[in-house]
Amino acid sequence: MRFFVILLCGWLAGVAWAAPSSVAILQYHHIGHDTPRVTSVTAAELEAHFAWLQDQQFTVLSLADVQQRLAAGESLPAYTAAITIDDGWRNVYHEGLPVFKKYRYPFTIFVNPKLMREAPQQYMNWEQLKELQQYGAHIANHSNSHWHMTWRQDAETESEWRQRVEADILSAQQEIDEQLGPQPRHFAYPYGEYNEQLEQLLAEHGFLAFAQHSGPWTAYTTPTAIPRFPASAQYANLATLSTKLKSLGLPVISSTPASMVVAHGMVTPSFSVELANTDDFNPRQMNCFAGSSVLQPQWDGNRFTVQLEQPIPVGRSRVNCTVPSRSEPGRFYWYSQPFVRPNAQGTWPD
Ligand SMILES: [Zn+2]
Repeated sequence: MRFFVILLCGWLAGVAWAAPSSVAILQYHHIGHDTPRVTSVTAAELEAHFAWLQDQQFTVLSLADVQQRLAAGESLPAYTAAITIDDGWRNVYHEGLPVFKKYRYPFTIFVNPKLMREAPQQYMNWEQLKELQQYGAHIANHSNSHWHMTWRQDAETESEWRQRVEADILSAQQEIDEQLGPQPRHFAYPYGEYNEQLEQLLAEHGFLAFAQHSGPWTAYTTPTAIPRFPASAQYANLATLSTKLKSLGLPVISSTPASMVVAHGMVTPSFSVELANTDDFNPRQMNCFAGSSVLQPQWDGNRFTVQLEQPIPVGRSRVNCTVPSRSEPGRFYWYSQPFVRPNAQGTWPD
């Protein structure tokens, strides 16, 4: 009898340990040999990634499908991924087409219509984008101008800033919809940079918005701060990328700070995350990686706080926290906190 009770308790605990459905979004830019390596994969690397997804029996969904299925409360296959490509470089058409044709996975290209007009030799045109639509492409919004969207121009008030970026985002969407018919409102932040006001603006206009800090997308994810895993350059290596593609998302209820952009003087920021539960992992096993240092978070109930010890650089950086899952041995929960620290003038490099 006692053995049975222990078994029953284990089974009940097992039910409580279910991880949230988690979708890893790959993020690419250039496909080529002669493009900046830091934002490039070769066609062979791209094909190796697609072959690996197929080999590992991943379900690859469009962003709109994931959006709809998470909103409906559906549970997704254990290994689910989505594919995104930023900027719409012309090499994506020339180098990627054979790979897209071979695998027929859905993928999203985030484009900047104004840049397409201004530098037609560098970017795909609408005809090429339409051709890629036949092989799985969805076309979405990366702003018109590819500005650092959170920057204010000289003497610009908050309402002037808001009008400027709102017009930039909506005019890009209007041109995409005119060229291709109405498309889902999906926006990728240029450089992955956003603040609370920009999130609010995109939410008001019904956009989902995708960033560049890493981690999977779950029903808990803020719809205007959806993480993606960069898959270019050193991140293209499947030895490490495979762990990310199989990672799980924490059940995050709230987090601070509200904006990734911190004050110039904030050289060692902290961040705090409240979870719905910690059922599926041992909180003491969570490690956070900030530059070269490994930090242990401080826990208070279901909330953890990480205080950085080493100064963060001017520009973008991020802290990644991981902890092994109990219910799915070999898989890790993955959470990323992005930061941008401006220079004394309030800007930072690309
Ligand atoms: Zn971009």
